[in-house]
Amino acid sequence: MVSAELKRLAADNSAIRAMFEEGNNLALKYGRENVYDFSLGNPNFAPPEAVKKAIIDVLDTEDSMFVHGYMSNTGYADVRKAVADDLNSRFGTSFGTDNIIMTVGAAGGLNVMFKTLLDPGDEVIAFSPFFVEYGNYVRNFCGVLKIVPTDPETFQIDPEALAAAVTERTRAVIINNPNNPTGVIYTEQALAGLAAALERRSAEIGHPIYVLSDEPYRELAYDGKKVPWLTKIYRNTIVAYSWSKSLSLPGERIGYLAIPSEIDDFEEVSTGASISNRVLGFVNAPSLMQRVVMRCLKESTDIGAYARNRTLLYTELSKLGFECVRPDGAFYMWVKSPEPDEKSFVAKAKEELILFVPGSSFAWPGYVRIAYCVSPDMIKRSLPAFERLAARYGLQKKETV
Ligand code: PLP
Repeated sequence: MVSAELKRLAADNSAIRAMFEEGNNLALKYGRENVYDFSLGNPNFAPPEAVKKAIIDVLDTEDSMFVHGYMSNTGYADVRKAVADDLNSRFGTSFGTDNIIMTVGAAGGLNVMFKTLLDPGDEVIAFSPFFVEYGNYVRNFCGVLKIVPTDPETFQIDPEALAAAVTERTRAVIINNPNNPTGVIYTEQALAGLAAALERRSAEIGHPIYVLSDEPYRELAYDGKKVPWLTKIYRNTIVAYSWSKSLSLPGERIGYLAIPSEIDDFEEVSTGASISNRVLGFVNAPSLMQRVVMRCLKESTDIGAYARNRTLLYTELSKLGFECVRPDGAFYMWVKSPEPDEKSFVAKAKEELILFVPGSSFAWPGYVRIAYCVSPDMIKRSLPAFERLAARYGLQKKETV
């Protein structure tokens, strides 16, 4: 018998699992090459060659007891120092070894922080639309997720709405920049507004409100756009990073938390995070991968390839008459449903063998998310199916976008 809580979770999960199974069933029936699966955020591009070389180099040159052994719960000191130095050179920060904790991906880092910060009933604010797992992570620690909508035109943070949502139980705000599912990069101006709102409200409620900045897509920014570095804008920021997307290593589960010394109660929070990493059963981040990423801090996946996918999909779907938010980052495109019920749009797309995720899975009905971390060839092959889908809605074609 499983817990009542798990039964609830399983019921909530069934929509996404159903889509996954549906994709496999369609592939069996029609052939995988005829099914256009844009549902998952699993990078299609292989990790850079440097990752393979680094794995071999670690195994060839380092002591195996050291490479495969237990270590401090925060990770190898030399890896943490290298991560800190890299961040300092890129963002003008002054991190040292003690500011970095190696984690089991961004998901591991976020769970560590919620374990560290939340008492039962404490509130965490997220901006919708948002990554669907946040609710599960917060509930793991009996926290309450409060949802604040972004601006429906720009999908930027609305600082006034944020300020109004803060209560005496607010412990943290989670932001995800660049954003899954919209592809929007929160601007410096929006983040300055967030900082001002939180400084004011923390003073009013008499305790710090930490921002957890979830940044697995930090490097995936297009057209020379920059993702603002939040610890410089809001003092009580903790960054959760991962190499899942930037090095195409989602299965390897490797990331870090950057906890600046300037945050309130730094010693307590950073020690707490180290203990949380242990007691949650992570113990430490995967050891071999720590040694590998230390050697690959200047590497990244082929961002140009994602940029080309983005331009192709955005241009072609816009020409067909779909209303798309032009993504500035991540590898998702946010598209307005041509009918009010986006689940019905998803169902019609499925009839054309196109799979994408309804916006209600991100607490934002009326839109869908198309993941373009797929092969360019699949995007090209899918265009006639998108054309048939547009025709079913009588969408007006455009010559240029
Ligand atoms: N946060 C967001 C917004 C994501 O989209 C994902 C994965 O897709 C994660 C966190 C989890 O990343 P990781 O593989 O680093 O745990």
